[in-house]
Amino acid sequence: MPIYEYKCKDCNKEFELLTTSAKDDQKIQCPTCKSANVTKLISAGAPLSGIGIPLASSGCGGNSRFS
Ligand SMILES: [Zn+2]
Repeated sequence: MPIYEYKCKDCNKEFELLTTSAKDDQKIQCPTCKSANVTKLISAGAPLSGIGIPLASSGCGGNSRFS
């Protein structure tokens, strides 16, 4: 069963939802503020090791910036 991550646009609360059915357009409500204004995030269930990390954490500890 896939677990999807959603983010509420109203209160910026991120939450996970376990979908048991094949229906993808079910009404999603924020568990915090009950808003339906939520967006679907990319599921973290598929590990993409080595992809999407071109540089080692730039901006974290380095003052000099090259552009
Ligand atoms: Zn909310």
